[in-house]
Amino acid sequence: MAVEKIANGVVVSMSYVLTVDGEEVDRAGSDDPLEYLHGADNIVPGLEEALEGKKVGDKVSAVVPPEQGYGEYDEDEVDEFDFDEIDDAEELEVGMPLEFEEEDEEGNVYIYEGTVMEITEDTVVVDFNAPLAGKTLNFEVEILGLREATAEELDHGHPHSMDGFFEDEE
Ligand code: ZN
Repeated sequence: MAVEKIANGVVVSMSYVLTVDGEEVDRAGSDDPLEYLHGADNIVPGLEEALEGKKVGDKVSAVVPPEQGYGEYDEDEVDEFDFDEIDDAEELEVGMPLEFEEEDEEGNVYIYEGTVMEITEDTVVVDFNAPLAGKTLNFEVEILGLREATAEELDHGHPHSMDGFFEDEE
């Protein structure tokens, strides 16, 4: 049975351009579309809501505020580290991504991703906010295709047509 419009459990194929503060930050062309599973938090909530009920061929302009996108910018997510706390600190540059591993008492390892914000003589300031936190997201979307998700895709919570884009935990 053909899928007529976007609803939970539908795999959506779309092209899009994402613009932030007047600058293009991401895009997927019609020759290399993004596919996502609707209703599974694969995309930001504001965009998912804007696409609900849309059909193939529909063009959608969505303005998504931070709280419906990557969240508000949080000053508490900025931390300062001494050089000796960081491997290869002398090679860091402002704007570089940085990963921290932390192990709790039970041996669980957590990975935190941040961005180098500032480098002083002996400290590094790291921003752990998502790169687009606090930003209003402007999406121009075209719906290219719709299909029902397979049982396995529903179970995993993502489409399997996007090679390597959504990771499986095995
Ligand atoms: Zn999977």
